[in-house]
Amino acid sequence: HFARTVRSEISYVMVKPDGVQRGLVGEIIGRFERKGFKLKALQMRKCTREIAEEHYKDLKQKPFFKDLVDYILSGPVVAMVWEGDGVVASARKIIGATNPLNAEPGTIRGDLCIQTGRNVVHGSDSPDNGERETGLWFQGDASVEWSQTIQPWLT
Ligand code: ADP
Ligand code: MG
Repeated sequence: HFARTVRSEISYVMVKPDGVQRGLVGEIIGRFERKGFKLKALQMRKCTREIAEEHYKDLKQKPFFKDLVDYILSGPVVAMVWEGDGVVASARKIIGATNPLNAEPGTIRGDLCIQTGRNVVHGSDSPDNGERETGLWFQGDASVEWSQTIQPWLT
């Protein structure tokens, strides 16, 4: 279970396999870091089909579901938990629209990719899914308790 600070909302953010292959891990992490959110957990890993299917279970009926799961399984991902007030909605803004051709310049997808099926990064779509996805990808106590000493300058 995840220990919490007072700013308790969390988002599960993941650099997808194409982001790792293209060397975009630092670029993507940097955007959340510079925004001021707090990194709570980070792990590079190859996931199982079971986890990928559970992660995207709401899309099970979609025609692209199998391709989507194969995409997530195609190489290592970088799994992260970011914490802060409003982090779920803010991360979605930082990430940009699902179809990168509709994503605004300045967003990760708007700046870095062109295909919906290769859109480099995931972010939870609700606080409840932030909790659910974090529990799915980080079992046991993978989070680190630490204080952002610079926090007073950011808030
Ligand atoms: P988001 O990642 O923006 O929350 P969704 O939850 O709707 O988007 O879809 C999850 C992921 O499934 C997308 O990020 C994308 O990789 C893939 N996907 C969504 N729609 C399509 C589609 N029409 N064709 C192929 N892949 C898709
Ligand atoms: Mg989604």
